[in-house]
Amino acid sequence: MTCCFKLSLALAAATLAFGAQAADFPGAGKTITIVVPFAAGGPTDKVARDLAEALRKPLGGATIVIDNSAGAGSTIGTAKVFRANPDGYTLLVTHIGIATTPALYRKLPYKVDEFEFAGLINEVPMVVVGKPSLAANNWGELKTWLVENKGKANLANAGLGAASHLCGLMLQQALQTELTTVPYKGTAPAMTDLMGGQVDVMCDQTTNTTSQIEGKRIKAYAVSTAKRITVPAVYKDLPTLDEAGLKGFNVSIWHGLYAPKGTPATVVKAVNDALQVALKDPEFVKKEESLGAVVVHDDRATSAGHKKFVMSEIAKWGPVIKAAGQYAD
Ligand code: ASP
Repeated sequence: MTCCFKLSLALAAATLAFGAQAADFPGAGKTITIVVPFAAGGPTDKVARDLAEALRKPLGGATIVIDNSAGAGSTIGTAKVFRANPDGYTLLVTHIGIATTPALYRKLPYKVDEFEFAGLINEVPMVVVGKPSLAANNWGELKTWLVENKGKANLANAGLGAASHLCGLMLQQALQTELTTVPYKGTAPAMTDLMGGQVDVMCDQTTNTTSQIEGKRIKAYAVSTAKRITVPAVYKDLPTLDEAGLKGFNVSIWHGLYAPKGTPATVVKAVNDALQVALKDPEFVKKEESLGAVVVHDDRATSAGHKKFVMSEIAKWGPVIKAAGQYAD
């Protein structure tokens, strides 16, 4: 046997092994864990659970479980996936926090560009909401109350790096006021306290606020997006913060699907292929739309497009956060 013949046999064996790995993924009877870096029952958790249901079939009937590794504004759960075995059996669903935490944390336990990007999932607007007993009945009255109660009014959020933190930060900057922030492990527990009147206001994703506003368990004041929200109908009469005087205010958050660094490209492709099917699943699309979220169908749903978008979001939010002088160690 010549050396070259031996080499080509070895290469053929390696190709077979590599091919088998992708073809086997996820493999019969296997369990995939999707880590959600926020509390159960909150906006990111809801998206991840609905997506898991839509992914099950295209992933060959695999069992998909959700692991809520919450805390530190999403950085605990995100770091857990960064360090996980890169075999495709541990994935991450997280939101804009993956792009805001690099500017917020001096010592971040992950490098965003080293994740494997499996595709963007959705975009979700945010809404300023208040406890049911707040006297303010519209944005104008709330704005006056927030400015008059500088340092006293409480603003709930899901920790430094959460979307509620980012929106709250921009709100305080725009109003030139300071609110006392109360951090939670997610906006699910924050919402419980808002409904109970333990905290005053919050800026949260529509995926968490819609049913509470419909049920009149909280008050709604304004939306964070450049355009008004017409669906679901509960938002149609709310002004945008921009039209209500906070010129240029525009925060729309998004969720994406990630795999740990080093996950084989064939496995990432299998996950992305399954995501493409899930994003067209009528049940999934209906659920998202009913909560005010919009499922992504453009280039950002591809691995390359997702990475490019996240890097552009890091570049966009970094200076805004740095200007606000916020950090954690
Ligand atoms: N998405 C977070 C959650 O699921 C909330 C936030 O980002 O503010 O709780």
